Amino acid sequence: YAKKKHRAGYSEFGKEFEQELQQRLHMAAELRHCVERNELHLMYQAQICLKTKRILGAEALVRWTHKGQIIPPNDFISTAESSGYIVPMGYWILEEACRQQVEWKTELSYEITIAVNVSIRQLKDPQFLKRTDQILEKTGINPSSLEIEVTESMMMEDNNTLHSVLNDIRKRGIQVALDDFGTGYSSLSYLQQLPIDHLKIDQSFISKITKSSQDSAITALMISIGELLNLKVIAEGVETYEQQEELIKLGCSEAQGYFYSKPISKTEFIKLLTTMNQ
Ligand code: C2E
Ligand code: MG
Ligand code: MG
Ligand code: MG
Repeated sequence: YAKKKHRAGYSEFGKEFEQELQQRLHMAAELRHCVERNELHLMYQAQICLKTKRILGAEALVRWTHKGQIIPPNDFISTAESSGYIVPMGYWILEEACRQQVEWKTELSYEITIAVNVSIRQLKDPQFLKRTDQILEKTGINPSSLEIEVTESMMMEDNNTLHSVLNDIRKRGIQVALDDFGTGYSSLSYLQQLPIDHLKIDQSFISKITKSSQDSAITALMISIGELLNLKVIAEGVETYEQQEELIKLGCSEAQGYFYSKPISKTEFIKLLTTMNQ
């Protein structure tokens, strides 16, 4: 009886697995057309200076409209990565983000940085530097107004090509931020070698900062590491006034999160810019 039950359970599992595989294959096929069908758009989330409370930058976050539904990146980026489609998709995202930064600068005289997330697959594309240069030239963005975000977990793989691509990126004046900092296991000596300018403290720490003295202490430590390595530090996922005040107390200089603004459309972002940075 035990054996039979086990087998039934196993085949149930097999069915679910097969269904999920089918869904993923279907999504991968649909994703391949998202750029040409104009199904991608960017949302922008403000990055705030905690001293002046002005907007210093915006992070571009991609959305996919598929069959009338807006799909968040966590539901499709991994499929785009495994199919390789993240590469052309990533160039569309980079160009759109740069074009937007230049538009805010030339039409509204607001010069803020634009941060763009990239995945490892994109950085490993042999064309990455060439295509990036083409985008810089085409859009006319000042390279120092562009920031590339890489995650700490992605940098855990001690990869020479990855480091050299990021070094070449920085030689152009483009900044590099380490996203989701604190969730990987980078040692201090490893961090010191990384070609980065900015640490983004992961929101999992910030969400507990006012409730747990341990999380507050860990955050304080991450801020000190940033100071030690001469890196700017930004706190991600700030949702409350209390969290902001705690971060100011700990000496954090920048913040991003729902407390200031959710990711919003470009039109809404202009309204936010004109109110906060007047
Ligand atoms: P991320 O780069 O760490 O982005 C932060 C995520 O946290 C965003 O989710 C943002 O909307 C959300 N967030 C911001 N503030 C708050 C807050 O105060 N509270 C809470 N609970 N959440 C907050 P989103 O837009 O769904 O993006 C998820 C992830 O997808 C990003 O994490 C990033 O890793 C990836 N991603 C987004 N856009 C792109 C892209 O253009 N290319 C690539 N390769 N990955 C992207
Ligand atoms: Mg990010
Ligand atoms: Mg993050
Ligand atoms: Mg994340």
